[in-house]
Amino acid sequence: MTNNNNAALECPEETKYDVMVIGAGIAGAESALKIADMGYKVLLVEKEPSIGGKMILLSKVFPTLDCAACITTPKVSETSRHPNITILTMTEVEEVQRSNNRDFIVQLIKKPRYVIEKDCTGCQECENVCPVITQDQFQFNLTARKAVYIPFNIASPRIALIDIENCMLCGACEKACPSNCIDFTQQEQKLQISVKAIILATGFKLFDPISIEQYGYGRYKNVITSMQMERQLAPTRPFNNILRPSDGKIPDKIAYVFCTGSRDHTVGNPICSQVCCMYSTKQAQLLMGALPMADISLYYINIRAFGKGYNEFYMQAKDMGANYVKGKIGKITEKENGNLILRFEDIVTGKVSEKEHDLVVLSVGLLANPEITKVFKDEKLELDAVKYVCQKDMLQNPAQTSIEGVFVAGTATGPMDIPDTIMSAGAAVTETSSYLKKLL
Ligand SMILES: Cc1cc2nc3c(=O)[nH]c(=O)nc-3n(C[C@H](O)[C@H](O)[C@H](O)COP(=O)(O)OP(=O)(O)OC[C@H]3O[C@@H](n4cnc5c(N)ncnc54)[C@H](O)[C@@H]3O)c2cc1C
Ligand code: SF4
Ligand code: SF4
Repeated sequence: MTNNNNAALECPEETKYDVMVIGAGIAGAESALKIADMGYKVLLVEKEPSIGGKMILLSKVFPTLDCAACITTPKVSETSRHPNITILTMTEVEEVQRSNNRDFIVQLIKKPRYVIEKDCTGCQECENVCPVITQDQFQFNLTARKAVYIPFNIASPRIALIDIENCMLCGACEKACPSNCIDFTQQEQKLQISVKAIILATGFKLFDPISIEQYGYGRYKNVITSMQMERQLAPTRPFNNILRPSDGKIPDKIAYVFCTGSRDHTVGNPICSQVCCMYSTKQAQLLMGALPMADISLYYINIRAFGKGYNEFYMQAKDMGANYVKGKIGKITEKENGNLILRFEDIVTGKVSEKEHDLVVLSVGLLANPEITKVFKDEKLELDAVKYVCQKDMLQNPAQTSIEGVFVAGTATGPMDIPDTIMSAGAAVTETSSYLKKLL
């Protein structure tokens, strides 16, 4: 049996495309789909083994509380089956240069999976026999995975890959695979293609709170990030309940620390991440549903509930019993039983207070992902002051970058929520198609 999801994954014979979309999160998938629907041929390049970006890993979405996977999965599957879209996963762009006829010549590197993509059925027999256990990056290190693994249940494509750095080369997976598709001889492949236009949809990075020492992330087991909580609330969650890491206890006094790594010059990120107030409010509502007896306190500087229905969503969380405390956390200390003492100045009373919680969630901010700039060899991709891709004319051509024919979509331009990301992808598609029409 061949996994029919995999047809688009082998290295393509085709070397000419109308548009290359870099990054297959929701911005990239939406851009690829819309431009492919117009009849253009699209190459969608993703560096991870699955498409879907951060959104495919979320629980529900604010303010509607629709299931994120239920929205992302059909979109991702439509993208992978579209006749005008070729997808390359585990692939990065090495270099982009303008040719004489104004097309872009692109050098790509496709990393080996050590699994023959078209033959893998996703049966997971290889995982069952692999003796290696290592941290699972798609569950944000909450659980373990094998050295041969499928990234997560709803990964697209649903194909195994081998993490060669941790592999013992014992050969057990090779013997167990009913499709004979383990292939240790695979090498990195270099590909050269030409495209007329490029859409950058390379998204954002999550702030790593290890640099805020006074919060104890990385030292205190029961201080986790919002993405780790997001995974615990998601349908593809690692456990069947919300558990605190130190002892597997179900928490009943949970604290959120807003603006961790946002609006903070001391960590080099002075801007608002736009989504943290709302995703924390969403998680609080989901937690109150999952753990009705738990107390949820949210420590904030200001509430930014600026979108359609967002303020009502915030008021709803308050009405449900979420305890919003206006105060910046100065320090977190750990007790012997793993509980955490939060020290903060209550802005309303003006008093410095301490409060004990048994799980702390850091509402981490969004950071720019500027590495893509270095692939442009003879033209400069300009960035803004905080290293997001610069929009040449934010009001009239929000997708145009400093390079003609190169457009940008989604959080590659700055922090934004999913509705704005979809609209930004729409703008990128419109501007790209009018650029392509002018070339004719
Ligand atoms: C904890 C948390 C909860 C959230 N909850 C919500 C919510 O409930 N509602 C809401 O509206 N928003 C929410 N958001 C925001 C939401 O995640 C973003 O708006 C959305 O994911 C942005 O999509 P994107 O495609 O722009 O970026 P991403 O999801 O970051 O996708 C970028 C893609 O590009 C790939 N890529 C990057 N660089 C390269 C490269 N050089 N070559 C190839 N591929 C590359 C990445 O691997 C990734 O797949 C939340 C965010 C967080 C952190
Ligand atoms: S060869 Fe590597 S991936 Fe395969 S079973 Fe052995 S350790 Fe696991
Ligand atoms: S055993 Fe073979 S076919 Fe099954 S998931 Fe592993 S590599 Fe794919």
